[in-house]
Amino acid sequence: MKTIGLYIHIPFCTAKCPYCDFYSVKADSEALDRYTCIITDRINSYKGKYPADTVYIGGGTPSILGTKRLCDILNAVNGSFGTNSLETTIEVNPCSAQQLDFSLLHDFGINRVSMGLQSSDPQELRLLGRRHTCEDVMYSAEKIRKGGIDNISLDLMLGISHQTIDSLRKSIEFCSDLDVNHISAYILKIEERTPYFKTADTLDLPDDDAVCDLYEFAVEKLKSLGYDQYEISNFCKNGFESRHNLKYWHCEEYLGIGPAAHSFIDKRRFYYNRSIEEFKQGIIIDDGTGGDIEEYIAMTLRLNEGLKYSKFEEYFGTPFPIMYRKKAEQLAKTKLLICDDNGIRLNTKGFLCSNSIITGILY
Ligand code: SF4
Repeated sequence: MKTIGLYIHIPFCTAKCPYCDFYSVKADSEALDRYTCIITDRINSYKGKYPADTVYIGGGTPSILGTKRLCDILNAVNGSFGTNSLETTIEVNPCSAQQLDFSLLHDFGINRVSMGLQSSDPQELRLLGRRHTCEDVMYSAEKIRKGGIDNISLDLMLGISHQTIDSLRKSIEFCSDLDVNHISAYILKIEERTPYFKTADTLDLPDDDAVCDLYEFAVEKLKSLGYDQYEISNFCKNGFESRHNLKYWHCEEYLGIGPAAHSFIDKRRFYYNRSIEEFKQGIIIDDGTGGDIEEYIAMTLRLNEGLKYSKFEEYFGTPFPIMYRKKAEQLAKTKLLICDDNGIRLNTKGFLCSNSIITGILY
């Protein structure tokens, strides 16, 4: 029986952050109860089909469900996908995390927590529409650890209005002082469906060059503090890579349950629409075949180790196509990527224009 990564989507937030395009809505406690029933029923419908060796409960804001509903969901997960998950992560908000009983969640399998810090600068947090403070993050981290969970990841954002190298340095040092194992540092992207998109001209965002400087600074600073980069936006102490997210970049199989959740099983991609109602009705959208050579190249080049020819051959049972290798070798003259006998990998500057490099290799 094949082993998969399991993703569970919790589509609720107390308020919508103006830059966020993830699918989430506001909900009262009755709606949270109803959703918990819907999703546990759906999880139960997969009983015994696939064992999961990683589980990721994301959102939205899973922590607003509270301990009892989360335990109901974890109970269904354990009953249907087994209890052999090596890594079971929950995303939490620094405020609602304070209400959770992490010791109980740990008993139900949670062994990793990902928390959205974004910045340690109060003004930057305000500009992002975030309501938490650094003290909330410190308090929650302490609570998570007291509950027996040592594996903590913090999210940072790069390219916030008025962000400077100095304010970013302080945010990174804040994470390091908290001694977390993993840091994700995402460049703010203005997505079309968000309030930020409508007001982008008034936001006084750093220009592209300034964002590149912030990114390059972050990579260096994080490295100096013991956080090695392993993917475009992800950094960790030795051995603390996110096993679940690595599945996406290695084109391994995963099942997503919840509105807006995507899956990749048996070379097919499929997903649920961004609608709780359609999810309740069990409407699944087929997104065609996946895991082809082009997709594999695009996903693995997000990783620091890049695309390894030996792993490619293992995955496809055929050597890496010479046509792509020649294009990569040609592009390597730009010094944005390295192409040697082991494979192809992007460097820091290359990560900043990964889309054009990948397009250059593929077309
Ligand atoms: S950024 Fe996080 S907390 Fe804010 S709306 Fe998006 S999912 Fe919710």
